[in-house]
Amino acid sequence: MNSNNIEKSVIENAVRFHGHQCPGLAVGIRVSEVVLQELGKPSRDEEMVAIVENDSCGVDAIQLLTGCTFGKGNLVFNDFGKSVYTFINRETNKALRISIKKDAYDTDEEHRDLFAKVRNKTASESERELFTQKHIKKSNEILDLPEDKLITIEQVEPESVQKARIHESLDCVVCNEAVMETRVRLLNGEAHCIPCFEELTGNNS
Ligand SMILES: [Zn+2]
Ligand SMILES: [Zn+2]
Repeated sequence: MNSNNIEKSVIENAVRFHGHQCPGLAVGIRVSEVVLQELGKPSRDEEMVAIVENDSCGVDAIQLLTGCTFGKGNLVFNDFGKSVYTFINRETNKALRISIKKDAYDTDEEHRDLFAKVRNKTASESERELFTQKHIKKSNEILDLPEDKLITIEQVEPESVQKARIHESLDCVVCNEAVMETRVRLLNGEAHCIPCFEELTGNNS
């Protein structure tokens, strides 16, 4: 157990599932712990819904620990690039919006430089090793951080959150497959799915 009473086995399982230990995963573990504590684990898995606003490392911990998974459809990804996670327990009709404080991810300059080198594949063996050490250290710091230094929790209305995720489907005029309304690209006023639109326009944005 660490200072936030997170079981060692929980951390180990998350690391095994995700493939490595990292600050993002640590955030996902912390968010999941708060959710299970504040909203409780529903009797049926699908009664919990997560809406995540990024698709980074932390979402793996959330899927594993809260049971909100991509495949079951109770994990909704809103591609907003924000460290915000909203959860609804439909059994109790309670919902929470959890956002990660900006400073929580702060790393020193050396860590950031090393990260850039690892990403660009220009890091030497020893730099790679140092980066891994720093990454794990930061991850452990996040696991130990007092809750009020890490996250902001807001209670929200479950209805408003859920309504936002129900979208109509339209048929792509090229491949005839159904596409969620919000992902449709219009070309001459006709609905296209993103792959067909990109093929027609050569546009990869
Ligand atoms: Zn990771
Ligand atoms: Zn199509």
